Amino acid sequence: MSQLTVVLSQAPGKHPAKRGLEEALAAALLFEPNVHLSIVPNVYDLGPDHTGRIFLEGVKGNMVILSWHYPRAVFWLLDRIGIKGHSGPVLLKPADQEEEEADESEKPAEPKGIGAAGEIPDRYIYCLDLRDRPTHEPYLEEIRRIVAECQARDEQKHRQRALQNAPLIQLGLPAAKPAAPLAASPFTLAEPSSAAPSLMEAFTPEKLLAPTNRRWYPVIDYSRCTNCLECLDFCLFGVYGVDEYDRLFVETQDNCKKGCPACSRVCPEQAIMFPEYKSPAIAGAPVGAVGAFKIDLSKLFGGDDKDALTQAIEERDRELVADGRGAVGATVGIPKRQAHKPAAPKDDLDKLMDDLDALEL
Ligand code: SF4
Ligand code: SF4
Repeated sequence: MSQLTVVLSQAPGKHPAKRGLEEALAAALLFEPNVHLSIVPNVYDLGPDHTGRIFLEGVKGNMVILSWHYPRAVFWLLDRIGIKGHSGPVLLKPADQEEEEADESEKPAEPKGIGAAGEIPDRYIYCLDLRDRPTHEPYLEEIRRIVAECQARDEQKHRQRALQNAPLIQLGLPAAKPAAPLAASPFTLAEPSSAAPSLMEAFTPEKLLAPTNRRWYPVIDYSRCTNCLECLDFCLFGVYGVDEYDRLFVETQDNCKKGCPACSRVCPEQAIMFPEYKSPAIAGAPVGAVGAFKIDLSKLFGGDDKDALTQAIEERDRELVADGRGAVGATVGIPKRQAHKPAAPKDDLDKLMDDLDALEL
């Protein structure tokens, strides 16, 4: 029977309610058949040398990540560090959306981004948001569903391989290619070299949970990013670069200015996320008609009456001055597309007003 790797990413700090949920979930998952549980510090804070990150990089099979962030943000932050896979469908919804029936007309348009770079391994990564439910039971139920889904998928692959080879075998011919055996368990870690310490030694709970420093950097959703490079022009702190395929990427994560989300406001595709920012739109909430409606309501009634571009310019100037450099205002790196369009989120606001009209508020 195959096992599923479940990784619990702890909340930073010691918030008692969050710790309580983590502990209840960990206690339940430890006794759950077909699940291998590991606990790491806040996944967003893991630096390249942290044991928790090395562990994550070593997991080769299907994986569930439980964290205190929006799933979109976690999926793409893992992708950025080479932990790739297909996005596993999650059926658990936030409690307040449980009863909402999706209106077909409000479904977001398919994203038109450039997609993940490189080869995507044949495995699924399921990201669950621990803010969705206050108790552990719904998560346990969803993880059991995911275990069954992964097992069904594996069985289907076995059947397909057997079918591919069957006609040749019936004719007495050797199979075209010996079928590569599926891993007995999707929890497959990279083989350690003989000189390497055993996995048990390398990934003790103490090492996995070694303290981290808080970090702050943008995460790109490549399902939305069109590679327009407007963020590259806008950021004056050397955070962004392009890779060998001329694709935008977050080259120097830790150059980003703590707490500042300026470039996310100039991205025309809502592809730049700061997973720990207070506003859901910037933190990686699902993009779409329903989500956008909620997000824009908070914009309208939250007292934030500036347009996004003006706000981004102010935030960038503040960081330049804090760095001992001069403010540049709108003279540098302002996307041509937006130069004559002062209200950047105008489309969204127009949509909001349409929605309000429709509701006859
Ligand atoms: S501005 Fe947005 S869409 Fe354009 S390259 Fe940057 S992340 Fe991608
Ligand atoms: S938030 Fe500021 S410093 Fe960080 S990447 Fe964006 S523009 Fe650059």
